[in-house]
Amino acid sequence: MRQKDVTIPLGIPDVQVLETSTNERGEIVITIESTKQGTRCRKCGKWITKSDGVDEWVTIRHLPAFGRRTYLRYRPKRYQCQDCEGQPTTTEILEWQENNSPHSFAYDNHLLLQLVNSTIEDVSVKEDIAYDKVAGALERRLATKVDWTVIAEVVALGMDEIALRKGRKDYITLVTGRLADGEIILLGVLAGHEKAEVVDFLRSIPPRIAEKIQAVCCDLWEAYIQAVREALSYARLVADRFHVAKHYYEAADQERKRELNRLKKVLSKEEYKLGTIAPFLIR
Ligand SMILES: [Zn+2]
Repeated sequence: MRQKDVTIPLGIPDVQVLETSTNERGEIVITIESTKQGTRCRKCGKWITKSDGVDEWVTIRHLPAFGRRTYLRYRPKRYQCQDCEGQPTTTEILEWQENNSPHSFAYDNHLLLQLVNSTIEDVSVKEDIAYDKVAGALERRLATKVDWTVIAEVVALGMDEIALRKGRKDYITLVTGRLADGEIILLGVLAGHEKAEVVDFLRSIPPRIAEKIQAVCCDLWEAYIQAVREALSYARLVADRFHVAKHYYEAADQERKRELNRLKKVLSKEEYKLGTIAPFLIR
């Protein structure tokens, strides 16, 4: 009997799958090829289509499939410019991988989204990947600007403070967005966690998107709270249940009971119950 094939969507544009196999460790290796027939010359910027062969094989980590580590394998195509002096060669720029990154864009995204309410250490353990590889994904994303043109509406923003190096007081901010359909997307990585940086980012959100943001869910970090009050004053500020919980554990038991008692009085029965299973309001 013939085994039925399962098609896994790669989520990558302009590629065709040449082969799918498993290696000796049971990991999935997908060999792909770009279907684009040219690239822009790195000197003159013209679209060039004269092939100059391919580079060496590159293997990068991609989104897991069926709980298994998955890799993409390909040879970058090279093209030659007929107009520039010396007919220079340009290696095609790939949409799924940044130069020299050991991960596909999709895998970087996957790692970064897991950092929400978590730490680099936790994600590195969960993904069975080196600490520096997770930190690398953050660093790669630091420089990139948000492409707001592809985003229709963000109903809530999330801001998470991430400690970048073990034991060092070096924080960055992960900004995520919840779309109308509930999907969480990564918006940006800010190179710090101070108010000014966050205000700058919030002000960079195009008005058509900013005015529809109903809530901001963030760490109980004063700079975030102030930044939101300053730059997105109409949005509700929501304390993330994880961070609230963390504060409770850190606080003395009495302090915790006092706070719960306070909330019991301030909130209605329904809100109080909701607060124990879902984020609740700071104000
Ligand atoms: Zn050229």
